[in-house]
Amino acid sequence: MSRVYNFSAGPAVLPEEVLKEAAEEMLDYRGTGMSVMEMSHRSKAYETIIREAEADLRELMNIPDNYKVLFLQGGASQQFAMIPMNLMKNGVADYIVTGQWAKKAYQEACIYGKANKIASSEDQTFSYIPDCSDLPISEDADYVYICENNTIYGTKFKTLPNTKGKTLVADVSSCFLSEPVDVTQYGVIYGGVQKNIGPAGVVIVIIREDLITEDVLPGTPTMLRYKIHADNGSLYNTPPAYGIYICGKVFKWLKKQGGLEAMKAHNEKKAAILYDFLDQSGLFKGTVRKEDRSLMNVPFVTGDEELDAKFVKEAKAAGFENLKGHRTVGGMRASIYNAMPIEGVEKLVEFMKKFEAENR
Ligand SMILES: *Cc1c(COP(=O)(O)O)cnc(C)c1O
Repeated sequence: MSRVYNFSAGPAVLPEEVLKEAAEEMLDYRGTGMSVMEMSHRSKAYETIIREAEADLRELMNIPDNYKVLFLQGGASQQFAMIPMNLMKNGVADYIVTGQWAKKAYQEACIYGKANKIASSEDQTFSYIPDCSDLPISEDADYVYICENNTIYGTKFKTLPNTKGKTLVADVSSCFLSEPVDVTQYGVIYGGVQKNIGPAGVVIVIIREDLITEDVLPGTPTMLRYKIHADNGSLYNTPPAYGIYICGKVFKWLKKQGGLEAMKAHNEKKAAILYDFLDQSGLFKGTVRKEDRSLMNVPFVTGDEELDAKFVKEAKAAGFENLKGHRTVGGMRASIYNAMPIEGVEKLVEFMKKFEAENR
């Protein structure tokens, strides 16, 4: 068996320890004589799995009691619709557009009500986070929406926008559990888990209880109502059971690493290795304004498309996978999520140095 260094933006690298443990439990989960994949989601064994996963996530993120944790399906993209359907009481919401994902969320919200684009960084291909300290927040906005870490462009909100008292809704798909957050600053925090937590198929929604009501847009399907999932403990219908089980293992792994404070320190150290190299390289350069750099997704270019392609090809041959940039951006992108070990980044930088020496 040989494992590569996987820099994929998602689905992405998972802790090896977690995969091994899941492999050991594959055929017989703790004496049940069956795999978690084969188990009723109403069984005692599964009930324990999902409730423990929730409890561990609550502990990791210090989630207050007046927030619900929902394990749903449909990916982050389904939340683009679910959020306006459930939260647009006045039919108005403000969107800060800092990348493709925020733009898609904004476009989806336009289907359901009056969505206002109150700030954008599209003028410079989303390479920075706009100043959000004094935005023209709409009087009657039901919420203000952000994508906190922009997976494709590699930017991150270092301070949350001033929402002037309005509810903040954040897509944290690609920075979920990468550092501590103050949950009380948000009305809704959500993300697809396939970036920084687990396998594709699960989306986690952390939502303040007062936002969960029967008062949703007319025509909202039952499955797209937060209330039905909250009232049923994420077991209204069959949940993505195996995916939640793996997420639960990752939560335990994170606790063992020292929790989110420790992950933040680890992630800062790891990202600095790559950014410090990019800042002094004569060949490679980062594409994002320095103060807005993501700790999770690091896009970079040589400035020459052919050389970029050569780099991606040679890197792959050397065991560094999925370094090709997003199809809309080009160049390279290294996604260095929680589960990417420090030596993966150290070895990548060594390889980049060698490539630079050979291609000057
Ligand atoms: C990947 C991603 C999405 C889309 O996720 P799906 O689960 O494929 O719908 C949305 N937002 C962000 C920030 C992402 O990184």
